[in-house]
Amino acid sequence: MGVPMRGSHVDGVMAISSYRPNAFDRSDMELLSAIAQRAALALDNTYHHAIVEQESKLDSLTRVYNHGYFIKKINEQTETCQALNQPLSLIMLDIDHFKQYNDTFGHLIGDEILTSLCDIIRKHIKQTDAVGRWGGEEFTIALPNSNLAQAIQVAERIRASMALLKVCSDSQIAVPVPTMSMGIAVYPEDTNQVAKLIDLADKRLYVAKERGRDQIECEFQN
Ligand code: GH3
Ligand code: MG
Ligand code: MG
Repeated sequence: MGVPMRGSHVDGVMAISSYRPNAFDRSDMELLSAIAQRAALALDNTYHHAIVEQESKLDSLTRVYNHGYFIKKINEQTETCQALNQPLSLIMLDIDHFKQYNDTFGHLIGDEILTSLCDIIRKHIKQTDAVGRWGGEEFTIALPNSNLAQAIQVAERIRASMALLKVCSDSQIAVPVPTMSMGIAVYPEDTNQVAKLIDLADKRLYVAKERGRDQIECEFQN
């Protein structure tokens, strides 16, 4: 005997069988239908819960991790790296003069730049790395099992790809792509505390800005 199992994301059949001929009557069917309905509802709830959980980790515009989830993630990654005796590099990246860029080309073009930048970042990192939107036009990239030289290589590749990005205005006129500044800090070489690692990358990013933007900074500052 089979009964339908339907929900907004479930479409199936619940079936039972017996070796005995004519084993089931109408009341069995009603019981099975009630069970199938509840099972479909439970599966639907599980599906919705998984979506909400996934969404709660992401930034809605760029689909990279949001600030809160990135912090959770980098803490987990650092613990794993510590256990495996591996380094972890953190890149902090900020778009240069983005306010002026928005003012000149419009907020929608600005949004397009942010989503394109995140697409580019994803292309240049591994599945085990993590990208987060730290806030506004500032992004963080955690690279487990990457030393400074490898992190610089990733950062340079992102900068080079971004420079090649083609963006058009509403009137189909090519729009220049903004430059970016980056700060890099490495665990455990620079520090063995995640909060300090983030702070160091941020300070180095600030140095890159001060030095004239469009550059990467990874040195210890006095
Ligand atoms: P700096 O080189 O010093 O980083 O200058 P900046 O103009 O990039 O920095 P500032 O912090 O003054 O401005 C950041 C700008 O980023 C302001 C805001 O308009 C823009 N911004 C933040 N979030 C978004 C967003 O989601 N979409 C768009 N289009 N712009 C955003
Ligand atoms: Mg900026
Ligand atoms: Mg900023």
